[in-house]
Amino acid sequence: MKMPFLNFSYCHIINFSFTLLVLASSTFANQPDSATSAPNANTTLFPPQNPGRSNSKVAVIGYHRFENPARDPLAITPEQFRAQLQQIRDSGITVISMEDFLAWRRREKEIPERSALITIDDGFNCTYYVAWPILREFGYPFTFFVYSNFINKGGRSITWEQLREMQQAGVTIGSHSVSHDFLTKPKRTKPDNYDLWLENEFTQIRNELREHLGTETLVFAYPYGVHNAAVRQMGLATGYTALFTVSGKHITRETPSDELGRFIVQSDKPETFLSALKFGPTTISIANSNSNFNVTPSNGSTISDLFPLIQADIASIPDVDPKSIEMRISGIGSVPLQFDSTARKISYQLRQRLHGNNVTILVRARSTSGKRYEFTWNFQHEVSSPSMSQTLLETPTQNQ
Ligand SMILES: [Zn+2]
Repeated sequence: MKMPFLNFSYCHIINFSFTLLVLASSTFANQPDSATSAPNANTTLFPPQNPGRSNSKVAVIGYHRFENPARDPLAITPEQFRAQLQQIRDSGITVISMEDFLAWRRREKEIPERSALITIDDGFNCTYYVAWPILREFGYPFTFFVYSNFINKGGRSITWEQLREMQQAGVTIGSHSVSHDFLTKPKRTKPDNYDLWLENEFTQIRNELREHLGTETLVFAYPYGVHNAAVRQMGLATGYTALFTVSGKHITRETPSDELGRFIVQSDKPETFLSALKFGPTTISIANSNSNFNVTPSNGSTISDLFPLIQADIASIPDVDPKSIEMRISGIGSVPLQFDSTARKISYQLRQRLHGNNVTILVRARSTSGKRYEFTWNFQHEVSSPSMSQTLLETPTQNQ
């Protein structure tokens, strides 16, 4: 199958375009019988806008130990840690607190579009002695995930007194289980009753945190990031509202609460931290809003016109920067559209043949304040006979 959007001349955006296309396909996949039913873009393409929509994304960054020299991949040196915090700052990313993160997830608060949450796992006292002073230099909040069996155990374990001091200074203390065993299939413990054991892994640590610190924690980090449906269900059932894994992915407001990805920093994998800082363009998918773009050919329609006029009304994009408007046609790429600034309409008269029967149109634009918008729609193109398609006038594509 020929991949749409493959022949863009703007190479640097090819990857992003594929991502958009995947999004677009899944958006349109749910349209009922779009090729055969009467097309009605206004009601099927743009369902009511979600009132709590947010463009913000959060990179949750996970650390473990801070030491010099770093003895294994889960440790980094204090200087590396300081350099990473500086890199976060230099990238214009805002470090938010867990409290703000949860309020944003509950739709009670907005956060900057590019935000980061710093977390440290396990309960090593280097968090208190090494990481915390560096985080304070930057004024960055963070969350410390601890597990019962490694608190007040001497050696490198954190004490309750240290946890109390941190918590009173604004550090969020979260749960990281009781045993730090694999919650899906315990290896060190042999529980008689797995369900009871699993429940206790979630509740006992929270009870201890309440008893010693007087706080009610709502956040949990799965040991080793390992989870399955039963584990996630237990986590939610026992009252946690944010449960974190170790699969690095930026979090949106829609990311499921029991599978929040984190970018785990490892000294042998510097690319993980770098990918946490790469948010990609912030894009609003207008296809999911109730905006009416009056697209032609309409979404889901089947046309026989070999060279249709492609049109959309973009009046609903506020303060659009005319230079930023871009239209792409699957199989063809970016086309030189016309923008009627009075009617706020964009149009493009096709002069080259369409590739394949399924056509996706993608429009991207920016407001003068820099906010990005995109929407897509699809139609079917019906070539009535092979002989007809052979008589099509071949014109060179616009961007070669
Ligand atoms: Zn851990």
